Amino acid sequence: MTSPLALLSPADVPSQALASSAAGQAPLAPLAPLANADQVVPLVQGGFSRWVNLDYAASAPALRAVADQLGSVLPLYASVHRGASYASEACTAAYEAARYEVAAFVGARDDDVTIFTRNTTDALNLLASAVPGDVVYLDIEHHANLLPWQARGDRLVPARATLAETLAAVEAELASRPAALLTVTGASNVTGECPPLAQLAAIAHRHGARLAVDGAQLVPHRRVDLRATGADYLAFSGHKVYAPFGAGALIGRRDWLDAAPAYLAGGGAVREVTADGTRWADAPARHEAGTPNVLGALAVATACRVIAALPAGALAAHESALLGRLDAGLAAVGARVLRIWPDAADRVPAVSFTIDGLPAARVAAYLSAEHGIGVRDGRFCAHPLLGRLGCGDGAVRVSLGLGSQADDVGRLIGALAQLRDEGPRWTYGADHRPTPDPRPLPAWANAPSGTAERVTSPCEQ
Ligand code: PMP
Repeated sequence: MTSPLALLSPADVPSQALASSAAGQAPLAPLAPLANADQVVPLVQGGFSRWVNLDYAASAPALRAVADQLGSVLPLYASVHRGASYASEACTAAYEAARYEVAAFVGARDDDVTIFTRNTTDALNLLASAVPGDVVYLDIEHHANLLPWQARGDRLVPARATLAETLAAVEAELASRPAALLTVTGASNVTGECPPLAQLAAIAHRHGARLAVDGAQLVPHRRVDLRATGADYLAFSGHKVYAPFGAGALIGRRDWLDAAPAYLAGGGAVREVTADGTRWADAPARHEAGTPNVLGALAVATACRVIAALPAGALAAHESALLGRLDAGLAAVGARVLRIWPDAADRVPAVSFTIDGLPAARVAAYLSAEHGIGVRDGRFCAHPLLGRLGCGDGAVRVSLGLGSQADDVGRLIGALAQLRDEGPRWTYGADHRPTPDPRPLPAWANAPSGTAERVTSPCEQ
């Protein structure tokens, strides 16, 4: 039987990735096999095209190793912690090993706790229920790292024109009144810009506060090390690290999480229940009531293992080479790229832009309909930031990951140049959707009578 946590070796990484990284060159082909390799999508004008997925920041495709791992676990899948069966014991061991593996992947300290959550949003809401004091946060955040604090009446610091001035403003706020926590994004989901975590941790600690990092966009691209940076909490999502099976994690200091009310009340979170009351378990069990998402947790751990097995620096080199091409291409087609700070030194490969005279929704619809290119448009659940950047009507976001390749960027830039020079070849409605849209949805999407009915979200993202 293959152990669900069998170690992946660099042998699982394509040889050209190792070879080119060994030669000091950034490989521009996918760095690790994905479950969606060579997927095609239909085009409005007929025929099919290779799916160019430039929307990793929203949700990344599954790693093949993750899909394979779950396939090998499924025959013995069983409930964890409370079963006496062999399968239950195997799954319990795997689930707890996954916890350990995720903690190791992010450099957790020995006394940190790792709690499996549904995603980053869930992890940050859990943290918000546990902080024993004020929280300081910025207005550039994704709503997941903004609304939980706004709901508590915490203290918002507007970002300043430069990163240096923003750090100074954060420090001034912490110095003016004690706070328990400073929380920041590790990388902006709009611009990819990365604030300096070690510096922020030092600022927070200088004023008696802790630092929480929204790692949703950082963890897929950079090794985050809690011990090395001094960050106290990290939240991230499995689906953004190539493990889209409904689990995420909150890792960090144990004391607040042991003292907080159980995040969900129910089985598994308790030591003893009587008719009169409950003695709650410590974290992590305290905050994992109900049957946990075992497969999701194993998926996250497997993805962490694959990423950890990549040659040192290979992922950053791969993505920054592609980001360089993307920046140059977008400049060449006259796109206005959004940036928060001119002095942010590090960026992960998520780039948002607008093109004069072209609504973002139209650009995104055109790229998908006529070229099979998937991007995101809208306000990216960061309404205050989009407002600050003068993009209340939204922007287009292109994001890359370890499956991206040079051809993806080339296809995007070619399609944008064509749009600029010749306009679209199809017709689009007032809602910017292709009209008509003859692309059938796959049978599993339950398209009524095989037509391209689209389910719309009630909320503009
Ligand atoms: N923070 C950031 C920076 C994000 O980009 C996202 C997802 N777009 C989230 C938090 C929320 O992640 P999730 O939807 O997985 O909870």
